[in-house]
Amino acid sequence: MAGIHHVTAIAGRASRNLDFYTRVLGLRLVKKTVNFDDPLTWHLYFGDEAGNPGTILTFFPWEHAAPGRRGVGETSETAFRVPAVSIGHWLHRFIEHGVSHDAPAKRFGEPVLRFTDPDGTSLALVGVAGAEAEAARTGGGIPAEHAIRGFHGVTLMLGEAAPTAAILTDVLGFVAAGREGGIHRFRAEGAKAGGIVDIHEVGGFLAGRSGRGSVHHVAFRAADDEAQSAMAERLADEFRLWPTEQKDRKYFRSVYFREPGGVLFEIATDLPGFAVDEAPEALGSALQLPSFLEPDRAGIVAALVPLEPEPAGEDAS
Ligand code: ZN
Repeated sequence: MAGIHHVTAIAGRASRNLDFYTRVLGLRLVKKTVNFDDPLTWHLYFGDEAGNPGTILTFFPWEHAAPGRRGVGETSETAFRVPAVSIGHWLHRFIEHGVSHDAPAKRFGEPVLRFTDPDGTSLALVGVAGAEAEAARTGGGIPAEHAIRGFHGVTLMLGEAAPTAAILTDVLGFVAAGREGGIHRFRAEGAKAGGIVDIHEVGGFLAGRSGRGSVHHVAFRAADDEAQSAMAERLADEFRLWPTEQKDRKYFRSVYFREPGGVLFEIATDLPGFAVDEAPEALGSALQLPSFLEPDRAGIVAALVPLEPEPAGEDAS
């Protein structure tokens, strides 16, 4: 199965990030761990009930991160799927919770409600016909009929579409699926959640600058190690791109490469998944560490910014 595995972005205050995604958007905190490369920083994973590939948005909350700047060479929007009839419900909810949003619009014939999280991360809800028939969780008091059904996809803002398009179609399992204005759409066949990549081709424009509210990388799915190494081989043979060696991220195994448009891509295995260190019903309830960090648990816990409930009335911050 091709498609997006997860998206990782940079947040500011961890407890505000946790509050927004669980209480306002109704996602599940599926894993509470640390950044394996920077273990005194949280790594929070939000997704559906099981943390299935195609539903997982993760954050590195860096309390004092400077705001990022939108621009060329980065992911300019991350979109979630909701039933087409639910856009009005969400518009109400955003007004009630003081979430900064645009007026609903249409893209490729589907209703789109763009909004930002408290760190300025560009997000959207896309209304998808038939999504109401898919199972959903009822977090944050949101009725299941309106709940988020994983990712719709991401938009990459790039100077030139073709070099990145070739990697999407020749390596990552996407097919070209039309164009609307400057947006070229690619679709992973058979994927529901996480099946879309849009390339917004903008030519020479200001480069993005990574920071709070920026997407750090986009991860694509590989079924297993064998599929992943075949994809890495293809990148080397056909595109002269050499991914990193495989890194064990405990819940998946990953290789990384910078695609020609400047966005950091990852290829992550579907296996073993988030239930590897917690029971499915307990996902996200305790701090989980990889075995190489377990000896430092006490020091890590002492250094992490506590995840405290947000004071009321902070929605609009
Ligand atoms: Zn990742």
